Amino acid sequence: MRLVTVSKMSVKRGSHQALSNVDLAIDKGEIVTIVGPNGSGKSTLLRCIIGALKPDQGTILRAAGMRIGYVPQRLAIDATMPLTAARFLSLPTKRSKAQVEEALAQVGAEGLQNRPMAGLSGGQFQRVLLARALMDKPDLLILDEPTTGLDQPGSADLYTQIEQVRRSTGAAVLMVSHELHVVMSASDRVVCLNGHVCCHGTPEIVASAPEYRALFGTGTHGALALYRHEHDHHHHHDHDHDHSHDGDHAHHDHGSH
Ligand code: ADP
Ligand code: MG
Repeated sequence: MRLVTVSKMSVKRGSHQALSNVDLAIDKGEIVTIVGPNGSGKSTLLRCIIGALKPDQGTILRAAGMRIGYVPQRLAIDATMPLTAARFLSLPTKRSKAQVEEALAQVGAEGLQNRPMAGLSGGQFQRVLLARALMDKPDLLILDEPTTGLDQPGSADLYTQIEQVRRSTGAAVLMVSHELHVVMSASDRVVCLNGHVCCHGTPEIVASAPEYRALFGTGTHGALALYRHEHDHHHHHDHDHDHSHDGDHAHHDHGSH
């Protein structure tokens, strides 16, 4: 079953043409990953699909009654605010203790309900965001760079968790990632975006497409080089991250290395 059909969509942000002539379809239960450099229109595309932005041209069709769970790219939480995970999950809609516990269990974050959001590790924080997006049992989960602030093993764990969520809930997943090499095994399809759809297909096809390689500047061993680069430079662990300061600075652009 088709959940979303984007046809010939063009979107301007201010005077900038953020997206041109984009086609994209998402079917029930599939995991589609969008990759692309900074400013390539990834967040714009997601925000059009959730209905927060209107396209200037083209159409977006959504299946009747479809529910969407959305995790935005940036979520600033005031570190001085004593907000527990349970309360966070109860915003803006009040949830029962059982609902909170079920949602946390669904993302492998059991027992975090009484922990302050500001004290969670990067991986725990992202899991709580994921849990919140799952509260209304969405048919489509939209995640804008869900592994922001995580190191490579942390990212790989989160993608595995997302796949697990897909399996247990049947929700389709549309997500943005900079880390094609990490997300490959967890994606059914990849769309490489640069203001327009550069290339798309299975992860293997996109990773080897000249368009993708040109955009990300990866040579023959590009993905591997990127992986090694990260390993050389990320000696911290998941729990070292302080998400209260993520803001705009947590945006890792692996593509520019
Ligand atoms: P990505 O998520 O791929 O990094 P975005 O979708 O956030 O890219 O942005 C696409 C382009 O639109 C960028 O060039 C960005 O600067 C521009 N843009 C985004 N939001 C606005 C805005 N509110 N006003 C003007 N330009 C914007
Ligand atoms: Mg973005």
